[in-house]
Amino acid sequence: MLIVQKFGGSSVADAGRVRNVAGIIAENYSFGHDMVVVLSAQGDTTDELLEKAAELNAAPSRRELDMLLATGEQQSIALMALCLESMGLPAVSLTGWQAGIRTNADHGAARIRRVDTERLRRELDKKRIVLVAGFQGVDRFDDYTTLGRGGSDTTAVALAAALHADRCQIFTDVQGVYTADPRKVPGARKLEEITYDEMLELASMGAQVLMNRSVQMAKRYGVELEVLSSLVRAPGTKVKEVTRTMEEMKITGIAKDENVARLTVAKAADRPGIAFRLLHELARAGVDVDMIIQASGRDDANDISFVVARDQAGRAADALTAQKAAIGFDHVSVDTDIAKISVVGAGMMSSSSIAAEVFEAFHDEHINIQMINTSEIKISCVIDAASADRAVKAIHRRFFETA
Ligand code: ADP
Ligand code: ASP
Ligand code: MG
Repeated sequence: MLIVQKFGGSSVADAGRVRNVAGIIAENYSFGHDMVVVLSAQGDTTDELLEKAAELNAAPSRRELDMLLATGEQQSIALMALCLESMGLPAVSLTGWQAGIRTNADHGAARIRRVDTERLRRELDKKRIVLVAGFQGVDRFDDYTTLGRGGSDTTAVALAAALHADRCQIFTDVQGVYTADPRKVPGARKLEEITYDEMLELASMGAQVLMNRSVQMAKRYGVELEVLSSLVRAPGTKVKEVTRTMEEMKITGIAKDENVARLTVAKAADRPGIAFRLLHELARAGVDVDMIIQASGRDDANDISFVVARDQAGRAADALTAQKAAIGFDHVSVDTDIAKISVVGAGMMSSSSIAAEVFEAFHDEHINIQMINTSEIKISCVIDAASADRAVKAIHRRFFETA
């Protein structure tokens, strides 16, 4: 059996944790399995590297930043190889390049194009435990790229798909996927199973336990995932196409995203093409837009608001302001004091009362909803940042904590 395992940063944070993970790998290897193990950078290494870069350059080039960030994962794989070696086990560490992970050239958010598996296969044939640096690949110029924060999850799924692995296990610091962030909501419940679609929504809406692109890829290639703890031996959560619980539960989980900002374009001319031109400028600046609201106008002018990622808000405002005269509006303002709360569940498709129940939970807490967005299996509301945790707890109580 071929197993791909991924261990996140907290699971390999120090020597003790590295030894703990080495124990898990060794046990699986002793059963005769072929092992490919993807590791993240230790603890807060990636953040620390970003801080070091910021000390020297306020506007670093993305190529050099990737060169720096890629070192974090390389430390982890080498340390793990040394640890396994000390236990008398054959292991080899491979960078994204050596492991054949080819990406496009979009530094900092690179997408995996293909995985050339020859080297991986050769190492597996030698019965070596293969340790692969997560989060990184190499582009057609032979430059290192990184996949975006949380990218090691995507590396693991890509390898599982390319190698037709029998299992893909994502080890982390909680015991699986919960109905809400278990660190924030004490009553959160571990889910036995969750569908790809629900997991994709939760991940995209701020539940960082899996990177959303890893879930997308898992769905596309039919890779079943298991999310589980590297510290506690307990069954985790299966992420798959169809789950048994699908019809029983109204909703599956609640996510909070604080990395959001609202961009408001004031007094935009009320004529055809304005929304198109605004969105065109944002797309050119590489800014993804989530929700759009156009307030009904007065005096032939409308206010148009967008939700964007908070770390892209400055860039977005600059891009629009530069076209102010050409497009025709008064000014752009940015509000970062907001959060987005999302309620996800396939059960929503067949129950029209869920939206009302969610809105009632906000109402009971006297929380004003500023923007709403819905899809077949999700309701998202933008509220003020200070109320975010209270809102999640209130919704969680309503759907999961009543008998
Ligand atoms: P890793 O370093 O292993 O990749 P992450 O920090 O990226 O781990 O993701 C795990 C964290 O995700 C947990 O510690 C938890 O606080 C957070 N999280 C947010 N929402 C959820 C959820 N619904 N279920 C489980 N964990 C969640
Ligand atoms: N080390 C990278 C990050 O912190 C990738 C990962 O952990 O998945 O985002
Ligand atoms: Mg992660």
